Amino acid sequence: MAIPVPSRLLFIDGEWKEPVLKKRIPIINPSTEENIGDIPAATSEDVELAVAAARRALIRNKGSDWSTASGSVRARYLRAIADKIKVRKPELAKLEAIDCGKPLDEAAWDIDDVAGCFEYYADLAEGLDAKQKAPVSLPMDTFKSYVLQEPIGVVGLITPWNYPMLMATWKVAPALAAGCTAILKPSELASVTCLELGDICREVGLPPGVLNILTGLGPEAGAPLASHPHVDKIAFTGSSATGSKIMTAAAQLVKPVSLELGGKSPIIVFEDVDLDKAAEWTLFGCFWTNGQICSATSRLIVHESIATELLNRMVKWIENIKISDPLEEGCRLGPVVSEGQYEKIMKSIETAKREGATILTGGSRPEHLKKGFFVKPTLITDVTTSMQIWKEEVFGPVLAVKTFSNEEEAIELANDTHYGLGAAVISNDLERCERVTKAFQAGIVWINCSQPCFTQAPWGGKKRSGFGRELGEWGLSNYLNVKQVTQYISDEPW
Ligand code: NAD
Repeated sequence: MAIPVPSRLLFIDGEWKEPVLKKRIPIINPSTEENIGDIPAATSEDVELAVAAARRALIRNKGSDWSTASGSVRARYLRAIADKIKVRKPELAKLEAIDCGKPLDEAAWDIDDVAGCFEYYADLAEGLDAKQKAPVSLPMDTFKSYVLQEPIGVVGLITPWNYPMLMATWKVAPALAAGCTAILKPSELASVTCLELGDICREVGLPPGVLNILTGLGPEAGAPLASHPHVDKIAFTGSSATGSKIMTAAAQLVKPVSLELGGKSPIIVFEDVDLDKAAEWTLFGCFWTNGQICSATSRLIVHESIATELLNRMVKWIENIKISDPLEEGCRLGPVVSEGQYEKIMKSIETAKREGATILTGGSRPEHLKKGFFVKPTLITDVTTSMQIWKEEVFGPVLAVKTFSNEEEAIELANDTHYGLGAAVISNDLERCERVTKAFQAGIVWINCSQPCFTQAPWGGKKRSGFGRELGEWGLSNYLNVKQVTQYISDEPW
């Protein structure tokens, strides 16, 4: 059963604050199309307040500031946040499911990952203490040199709606671990669990201003954050189009950015595979979270000798999965996040048809669901490399299929994209997998699987999928400045 959505204000300086212009944005449950509440809509006026609060929290000069606290002090807060998230997991998972439409059990995995991510960066925060003053070996003994790792400062964290709380955590946890203070701007399409994070921060007594949460529209709340002169870095996850705008704004102030953007990732399936396993990973790789995954392997490149049989098995599976309200028992596929996203996906399918592709299965809403933004899992064949469906990210449950006859051709097709986030190869020949792995132009490669993601391993893309890495120790480095300190230690005059 759905639970009521808490009505929240903006989270600024450790307090709930009404947006200066008092605007709010409705929350629409994507499976029922019902209005289930609203979120505050921040504007540049609120950004000013949040940035000022974050700056005060960074350096208070009273011995109680976040940036100079030891890593182990910061770790205690991160662990306390993780503990509260675990306790509130059932409620947070339900809120996530009704806000963005993902099946309840998937939402519950996300919340586990959120807690795990805070714990992981608590460990790394503690580890930072021991890494300070790491010596640098120099070619002369008249000098000694060492390195300090310092927080970048106040950071703006702008995130999307597909994994609302998890994408926010991938940034908040390492930023706070590093000693930065932050302003989080989640997506206007799914902000509910991010606001609950504010409540959790209050409960654990996180010092005021260390984390501020501004919900609101991109141009009204995100843009002033990206261009604010007192924000020292922007970490962004979202579309390539918005990423480009953020980079342009940051460039005016030579502000560092890290960008996790879109993708059109390939999955190559060779002829030597177990067909059932290959079908399962291909389906999971494209349809998990309803295809609304940046790294979704949404271009299937399959050897021509097994294509028909593999597709037959995939169609059978698709016909048997449960598409329903995400809170229903056994739901495997919920709705996409919004009406706008539904329209965009349908338009991509229509364009593919118009350009001459064949809809093998799907391509419409499920007949049994009259309300909600549901799209059937869709397989598209007879695709050419000049079609939009081959080139552009759909961000929905749509898989474009092409066949190949040899390894060279498969690699060429895989790299035929201006994106470079993920790539997968399925084959029993591990030497071949290694060759293909090296040839892939992507930041993440999966062998004999697609999509598994671990907090410990680096995440990010190349080409137009962005730059910088989240997760693992790379995620922490995103929020640290390296300061070189060199001292003259000789008694001789220089
Ligand atoms: P989006 O770019 O529309 O929005 C992302 C965030 O940017 C939102 O918070 C939005 O409000 C904000 N925003 C919009 N315009 C802005 C502006 N002018 N200035 C500042 N902020 C602005 O993306 P989305 O639709 O929320 O998310 C889907 C996209 O995110 C897809 O392209 C997907 O591939 C990508 N994504 C990438 C990763 C990754 O790890 N690489 C992960 C998840 C999603």
